[in-house]
Amino acid sequence: MKLRNFKTVPRMIFGRGAFDQLVDVVDEQRQQDDDFAVFIIDPSQRGKPTETRLPARAQDLIIWADVTDEPKTTYVDALTAQIQGHRQGRLPVSVIGIGGGSVMDIAKAVSLLLTNPGGAAQYQGWDLIKHPAVHHVGVPTLSGTGAEASRTAVLTGPEKKLGLNSDYTVFDQVVLDPALIKDVPKNQWFYTGMDCYIHCVESLQGTYLNEFSRAYGEKAMDLCRQVYLDDHPDKDDKLMMASWMGGMSIAYSQVGACHALSYGLSYVFGYRHGIGNCIAFNVLDDFYPEGVAEFREMVKKHRIDLPQNLSLNWTDAQIAHMVKIAKGLAPLWDNVFGPDWAEQVTDERLTELYKRM
Ligand code: NAD
Ligand code: ZN
Repeated sequence: MKLRNFKTVPRMIFGRGAFDQLVDVVDEQRQQDDDFAVFIIDPSQRGKPTETRLPARAQDLIIWADVTDEPKTTYVDALTAQIQGHRQGRLPVSVIGIGGGSVMDIAKAVSLLLTNPGGAAQYQGWDLIKHPAVHHVGVPTLSGTGAEASRTAVLTGPEKKLGLNSDYTVFDQVVLDPALIKDVPKNQWFYTGMDCYIHCVESLQGTYLNEFSRAYGEKAMDLCRQVYLDDHPDKDDKLMMASWMGGMSIAYSQVGACHALSYGLSYVFGYRHGIGNCIAFNVLDDFYPEGVAEFREMVKKHRIDLPQNLSLNWTDAQIAHMVKIAKGLAPLWDNVFGPDWAEQVTDERLTELYKRM
């Protein structure tokens, strides 16, 4: 068996105040006085230090991202065209994404599309990207997805929700400043944080697990417990590291049953990744009994209202559509059950799980 030779983020700044060093990172990329950078920023950051202390120069392009929906291939294509039009086709020296998983994925995708022509949808898959991206930087303002660590940029396209997975996708630099996540509203903090917790459960319970993934997954899970059960005073620092390490854990393993079901929810009903995962995880007692029990403890402690009885309003056709999407995610089920997964992952079983939601 050939072992995976995967790329990781080569440079990172971690710590309170790290955001103020973004200026050095971007300026290092500027060769000529009129070189420009592109800052893509989450709308939640208006009026915050990320806006007031943004190290942008007059010639730079600042784009306030539309995150009403999770990123679509058409949106990435439109932003790419906007950036290409900014200076008559000249490329920016860096694309900096400041936000949650959505904005980070948008920044990754745009940096790839600037050098790989033809539209984002044609690159949804594994290793379809041909040319290196423009230098790109990730600055999370919301922690849990691990998008800052991963080699994918998840996009919803005309036919599927699937990432641009490639070595070129990986950020050239991340700036992890725990001060940036302190004001995230509770529900969002919980849902996106649980994405990290679920990454750990799926990685640690999966058949792809190796010692690399275990080391990161166990530590990330421990940090999640300190954040969501112990209410640790340094919880922002801890959650930011948990997100990173959870991302590193799945980089060498894979997610599992919860993510497969969640993709269906997201594609058919537009549920965001974090909440979709929570809805799906809550019915997976048979797959991850200890993880689900601990998750419920966290839900209770933080008085989170998890949507339930949703399936009462779903049609058979909608459920069948979700079943088809979930079943199509072969690598995820391979991680859950091993190579004979198809015997276990039947339409009936998936239908029954969706009906429990
Ligand atoms: P998000 O980026 O979609 O943001 C959710 C909401 O939080 C938005 O309304 C946003 O404006 C708001 N927000 C962000 N930062 C904030 C702050 N500091 N204060 C207040 N509000 C803030 O949420 P997410 O859960 O981080 O990301 C989900 C996306 O990430 C999905 O598109 C999913 O597919 C993707 N994802 C990618 C990977 C990867 O490896 N690339 C992994 C998991 C998920
Ligand atoms: Zn996830």
